[in-house]
Amino acid sequence: MSIAYDYAAAEPAIAAAKPRLLLIGGQHVPSITGRTFKTLNPATEQVIATVAEGNEADADRAVAAARRAFEGPWRSMRASERGQILLRLAELMKKHADEIAALESLDAGKPISGVLRQDLPAAIDTLTYYAGWADKIHGEVVSTRDDALTYTVREPVGVVAAIVPWNFPLMIGMWKLAPALACGCTIVMKPAELTSLSALRIGELALEAGLPPGVLNIVTGPGRVVGDALVNHPDVDKVTFTGSPGVGRGILRGAAGNFKRVSLELGGKSANVIFDDADIEAASKAAASGIFFNAGQVCSAGSRVLVHEKVYDEVVERLTQRAQSIRIGDPGDRATALGPVISEKQMKSILDYVDIGQKEGALLITGGIRVGTRGYFISPAVFANVEHEMRISQEEIFGPVVSVIKFKDEADALRIANGTAYSLAAGVWSRDIGRVQRFARNAKAGTVWINTYGYTDVRLPWGGVRDSGFGREHGSAAIENFTEPKAVWMNLNV
Ligand code: NAD
Repeated sequence: MSIAYDYAAAEPAIAAAKPRLLLIGGQHVPSITGRTFKTLNPATEQVIATVAEGNEADADRAVAAARRAFEGPWRSMRASERGQILLRLAELMKKHADEIAALESLDAGKPISGVLRQDLPAAIDTLTYYAGWADKIHGEVVSTRDDALTYTVREPVGVVAAIVPWNFPLMIGMWKLAPALACGCTIVMKPAELTSLSALRIGELALEAGLPPGVLNIVTGPGRVVGDALVNHPDVDKVTFTGSPGVGRGILRGAAGNFKRVSLELGGKSANVIFDDADIEAASKAAASGIFFNAGQVCSAGSRVLVHEKVYDEVVERLTQRAQSIRIGDPGDRATALGPVISEKQMKSILDYVDIGQKEGALLITGGIRVGTRGYFISPAVFANVEHEMRISQEEIFGPVVSVIKFKDEADALRIANGTAYSLAAGVWSRDIGRVQRFARNAKAGTVWINTYGYTDVRLPWGGVRDSGFGREHGSAAIENFTEPKAVWMNLNV
């Protein structure tokens, strides 16, 4: 899908959009305390909008609204009608594409070219895909015994808390919202406090599309207040979360209170493995985009590039050239490939890792420094001579920093690739079909890319295991996430 984009035309709509309120029970309301917080453009550090700062009481009234809508209009609505509403929302998103793309680019510092190529089309595709599912969710008749009719039905799990990160606010938000709504659940969404704007706009459009009040509620505010209140709320049935492992652990503990269902997507330290018989140019190009896309703030970023010793120097050289030629700058400029990172805190954390890498003895070949004094820009960094045990090779940096690690043979490559606490994704480059298949089989990862890197599609399951979390988004897996099977027995001898 190609989206025409007019940044100037979008600006008045953005200006008119402040201040932003909570969405509860179909009404745009201030927070109970009346408090607000500011959201910044990471490229300029300027305030874009003020946003209502919700608290536990706001979370509570949003859950109550979601419960009422679940027991009321949403549950009783025909499934095909639910699908139609999702399709109408997709149409409205296309109609307001310029404005939504501009909001996302301004709020998250994302290059507009990437938002138009990836975030927005993927969000719309996710909606239309799950709109199609809405009236195709069914159980089955199962043979058990002659005197009984036994069958299953799939019922919506109920009220869902969707806690969304800042790296792909629109797209990841939609990964949660679309299947949950298709299944007949109602939602309280908690956007990341750094990036609330696109979610709030989607909330407005959802009402325009005909979503009954209370089916989608949005409570903006701090994670440790609003997120925590939702996770611990006795009337929330499921939590779907994307973010850091630390918060994920807390969510598991909080969810234990009423045994909520939980799915967690917690990031990674993915290996992109290049063998000496690979197409080195294609592999290096994909390795660069695999780590530098979205300034490395991608859960499946190929943050470790593992290279066979015979081609190590060549790959380091090519990666360095690519890092040095990436156009850094204004996210609103279509030619920009690398925007700022999300916040000052994130920038400092990434620059700290660059220091740590050097102190550990890795060789910083290029980048890793702040660009300019305004906005959180970091030049793309390539580290060579990285040892597997170093912190820059083990810990998720979530920035444009790649560790290039040398390996000797297939077993060595697999040992290193599987040697972190994470298991989200992995890539392998080789022309040997046996070798790539062995790698795909043995890699500890929810997704393996062979002679490519970074693709996702809503039709394929997405998620990981170990410190990358558990549960899968996308495809039929998400339908299972948001429904419960019920077994029904009927005695035929009455
Ligand atoms: P985070 O885990 O703190 O935030 C993610 C979401 O969780 C946000 O909406 C936040 O408000 C909410 N949250 C925070 N504390 C909460 C709590 N106690 N209870 C419930 N919800 C809570 O992530 P972050 O601090 O924004 O980023 C830190 C690191 O997390 C990054 O550097 C990166 O490593 C990782 N991360 C991973 C992903 C991913 O796609 N898997 C996305 C964003 C961040």
